[in-house]
Amino acid sequence: MRLRPFSLGLTTPLETARGPIERREGFLVSVDPGADGESVPAPGLGEATSLPGWTESRSACETALNGVTAEADGSELVTDAVSRLDPAETPAARHGLALALADAAARDAGRSLTEHLAENEGLPTPAETVSVNATIGDGNRDATVTAAENAIEEGFTCLKIKVGARALDADVERLRAVRRAVGDGVALRADANGAWDRETAREAAERLAPLGLAYLEQPLPADDLDGAAALRTVGSGVDPGADTDADPPVPIALDESLASNGVDAVLDAGAADAVVLKPMALGGPDRALAAATRAREAGVEPVVTTTIDAVVARTAAVHVAAAIPEVTPCGLATGSLLDADLAPDPCPVSDGAVAVPTGPGLAGDAFDDLP
Ligand SMILES: [Mg+2]
Repeated sequence: MRLRPFSLGLTTPLETARGPIERREGFLVSVDPGADGESVPAPGLGEATSLPGWTESRSACETALNGVTAEADGSELVTDAVSRLDPAETPAARHGLALALADAAARDAGRSLTEHLAENEGLPTPAETVSVNATIGDGNRDATVTAAENAIEEGFTCLKIKVGARALDADVERLRAVRRAVGDGVALRADANGAWDRETAREAAERLAPLGLAYLEQPLPADDLDGAAALRTVGSGVDPGADTDADPPVPIALDESLASNGVDAVLDAGAADAVVLKPMALGGPDRALAAATRAREAGVEPVVTTTIDAVVARTAAVHVAAAIPEVTPCGLATGSLLDADLAPDPCPVSDGAVAVPTGPGLAGDAFDDLP
């Protein structure tokens, strides 16, 4: 196993509830059969790009991966190393190695990573394309409408609009204006990144219900699962029993709550209609797909997105999403946030969707020339 550090800047710093993100620094993780050819069946490539707040720190990630290398000898690496990386403590490190080994196994079998992941999870043949959402920032009403119209022009049919940075009145007006501009056929999501208190979130859910949002993401702080569960029943009618024309509740999606509480606590609490799964934060593509399966079994829609990763992990996230049967549009159009990348993107966004690389492994020979 070999680690190669990298550092990539963002085109513009991204403000988040957990501070601004200015760079993405991580490691490419390579595994190689070596001389005896037995430790791994084929070369494999992974990416470990930590994002504190979501994963361990970069140094903890490096320490964990170097620890595995130091402890492992040859054949033990394949079978045991991943199990020594705790997905709760060092999810990015585990993602890096689990992806490299899955890529190696898929290459050895001559099939794509998504086929490999789906078969291991007992899922049917994966999709050939995955729809993705456009992300629209927290500009004023006119800027928001313009960005929405541009995204529709580019072929997107699902828009995620940032809310919560302005007064609720302004956000409601922005979303109403977008709905008027793009019509009812476009799926609209709003992401508040945990900005609201319970009272504001309840008012938002009532006022947004008539707009038919696909979902409202992380309206409350990450730890407020009870509050999120209660919001799932808030429609536009004060008393739905008395008003048969009341709009149904806005579905609630949770994202930051998964990093704070874990997927299973969110599912057990009945806190979400949808969960946003980040393979890097969950400890690997295999664990993200398993979480998606558990969510579906609980009647919760899984959505796959990235932690603004480099191209290797983004491509892996595409494979994860493709393996989820009839997955809803995913947050995989994040490559444009980086001002440079490690290699050309083997699955660029086109017409609001990405074509899943056919393999073998992650993307055939697309990453073979990485330095
Ligand atoms: Mg989010």
